[in-house]
Amino acid sequence: MSHFPADQCTACQCGGRCQRSRLNPAKPILIAGAGLVGSLLALMLSRRGFPVTIIEKRPDLRRAYEKDHRSINLALSHRGWKALTAVGLAEDIRRIALPMHGRMIHSVAGQQSLQSYGKEGEAIFSVSRNKLNELLLNKADEQPNVLIQFEHRLLDFNFDEPVCRIANPNGQEYTVRPEVIFGADGAFSFTRRRMQEKLMMTCDQTAITPRYKELTIPAGPEGEWLLDPTALHIWPRGSFMMIALPNQDRTFTCTLFMAAEGEISFEAIQNTSDLHQFFGRYFPNAVPLIPALETDFFRNPTSKIMTMQCFPWHYEDKVSLIGDAAHSIVPFYGQGMNSGFEDCMALLDLIGTTARPNWAEILPAFQRSRKENTDAIAELSLRNFTEMRDKVADPAFVLRKQIEAHIHRQHPDQWTPLYSLVSFSHTPYAEALRIGQQQDVIMNRIMGIEEIGTSWQHLDYAHILRSHVSPDLISAPQPVGQFA
Ligand SMILES: Cc1cc2nc3c(=O)[nH]c(=O)nc-3n(C[C@H](O)[C@H](O)[C@H](O)COP(=O)(O)OP(=O)(O)OC[C@H]3O[C@@H](n4cnc5c(N)ncnc54)[C@H](O)[C@@H]3O)c2cc1C
Repeated sequence: MSHFPADQCTACQCGGRCQRSRLNPAKPILIAGAGLVGSLLALMLSRRGFPVTIIEKRPDLRRAYEKDHRSINLALSHRGWKALTAVGLAEDIRRIALPMHGRMIHSVAGQQSLQSYGKEGEAIFSVSRNKLNELLLNKADEQPNVLIQFEHRLLDFNFDEPVCRIANPNGQEYTVRPEVIFGADGAFSFTRRRMQEKLMMTCDQTAITPRYKELTIPAGPEGEWLLDPTALHIWPRGSFMMIALPNQDRTFTCTLFMAAEGEISFEAIQNTSDLHQFFGRYFPNAVPLIPALETDFFRNPTSKIMTMQCFPWHYEDKVSLIGDAAHSIVPFYGQGMNSGFEDCMALLDLIGTTARPNWAEILPAFQRSRKENTDAIAELSLRNFTEMRDKVADPAFVLRKQIEAHIHRQHPDQWTPLYSLVSFSHTPYAEALRIGQQQDVIMNRIMGIEEIGTSWQHLDYAHILRSHVSPDLISAPQPVGQFA
């Protein structure tokens, strides 16, 4: 039996005669969700020769997103690049990616100071979420063994066969009998909800206090950048902050992170007068850059962010979660998509080159290899919120980073700053977290040295490292790919 009933070929209305219907035999791998992770996974699996069906409840974004004029961007770093390189998309993405070499900190008085992210030449990259998803979908679509069904929603599945019940755009239901189901259906995953009903699954969802809202800085009158496009801009204000990432069209997407309720909060801004008073007080240098502030602020949604950690990720050899569906994290380390892409790499490594994967071994091994790492990046991401909104403006923090960079330059084989381990290496996140904790102990001691502000360049760091560093801290980062 074809998994794709003849009368359900809504993609091309062929009545089941099209090439795709023939090439997608019974028992495809079914992926729920054609977001960033689902489309990358489809591409990777299909290139290994597996028939793949993706069902996506939303319309095809390649046609739909032109209606939405907002540019939403993401920071792409080494882990993401590695996966995109593996599927031959790195050069295409490079053409649309803007390198950001550091954080540009904006004080209330409007002074700007740059804090580099890593060594010279190291950068994270601002990429349009829609363009990246579009490139992944186009590439997946080129594969003859991939079928992408937009506006098809996963309604339910029976775990044991498994059989999926799916609704097409007309609301008609049909069933598919896949070999295995991957729930790449995002932070509010339906697949996960179904697994919670079936299994003894723990699922901790921690909504954190800040909400976020996107605003736009347009290009200048001559089409020029209004801020330095080689940096990620931060307006740190203690309990809240605004950031801005550059877009290819010379605009910037700003994201304001702030409490939902309270004295300084989204709720406290009820009208244009509140809005101007708030921005004039906390972000005066940004006001002239955001001409549509009122429209953006009152029209754009205020959204929630949360950390979601669950266990187990799979049911026997039949169903597995991946990407945000398995681990959604707050966006402050810019690692949500990057870690989802790393999931895909880890899964493909476990599958290897076999044409008949043993899912009963692969799915538990995938969970084992990823769970402690995604828990670690969840923790690191929460901590980075405090760093971004508050500490980056603190002179003691700036000095600490300077000293760390100095130690790294002098002893690169013994000390790689935590940010670099996370963003510019493939060191497992759990190991990066552990190394970061050891580094904290040493840095706390260094920062406690009297007159450290004037003496730090003259300290004997070789001695400090010899006497304080446990042998396992001496861990060079894992080799990076072509984007080192
Ligand atoms: C404000 C913000 C900023 C961020 N910044 C960064 C960053 O700088 N760097 C970074 O790496 N990450 C960042 N992230 C995280 C990143 O967006 C996510 O990690 C990434 O999008 C996860 O991809 P995904 O494919 O797992 O899920 P999603 O992108 O959410 O895709 C899930 C897909 O599943 C579909 N779906 C859901 N239910 C069904 C169903 N029942 N049937 C069929 N389809 C279904 C949805 O329509 C959707 O298309 C940010 C997140 C936020 C909120």
